[in-house]
Amino acid sequence: MPFFKITYNDKYRFATLHHYGCVMHCPVCSYKLRSGANGVPGQSFPRPSSFLDIPTIQTALRRVPIDKVYFMGGEPTIARELPALLDFAKNTLKVKTYLGHTAGWKLPVENLDGANVGLKAWDKQVHLAYTGREKQDIFSSFANAAAAGLEMKANVVYVPGLVDQDQVRAIAQWIAGINAEIPLHIMGYIPVPGQPYTRPTIQQMQEVVDQCRRHLNHVAYSHLSSQEALDLTARDDRFAVRAIA
Ligand code: SF4
Repeated sequence: MPFFKITYNDKYRFATLHHYGCVMHCPVCSYKLRSGANGVPGQSFPRPSSFLDIPTIQTALRRVPIDKVYFMGGEPTIARELPALLDFAKNTLKVKTYLGHTAGWKLPVENLDGANVGLKAWDKQVHLAYTGREKQDIFSSFANAAAAGLEMKANVVYVPGLVDQDQVRAIAQWIAGINAEIPLHIMGYIPVPGQPYTRPTIQQMQEVVDQCRRHLNHVAYSHLSSQEALDLTARDDRFAVRAIA
């Protein structure tokens, strides 16, 4: 029962199912901004005290007017309940279904409309050291999902000294080989406790964004401080949500 919370946005009529656990062990995982926890897979934030079963989730989702359901993590594709919940959202509620944050593990998935995949690094060795997983598995999964017609988005965290500009640019170039219309969001690294890396400068961010825009038609970026990252509702009303289960 790895989904532990559902939030709802009244303005944009979407619900988000929050999953505990991940297949990767990224040392710079932004979930650690709140917890400061170590890099053990699935433990970037403390284990919730309880989880939601499928009937409870279905009841909560029926109570609110919904246009979209998002699943996010950790890594939501490892949830045993995901196929049943996607089927319920797509075929009973008849709403759009997205993975709002996924490591890109085992895509595509039935009854899923789209996914926002975090692509971590271009260099194979860096990818393995960073995530504990082979780069090829993740990039193939992304390409397969795009080929299956899913609405794909990608994001990458630019971490100077770990994932440098050349790697971010190479990822953008690779995505463009699939479809230059796929949106890419570049996040400037937000320092997490216990890691040696520093935030990129404004100039570094601009450089990497400019490089990626030579390949892709929709490149956005964020460059938040740790404090700003902890209060996203002040910057974007899509984060103004309330818990419904
Ligand atoms: S894939 Fe995402 S959620 Fe999982 S450890 Fe890495 S950054 Fe954290």
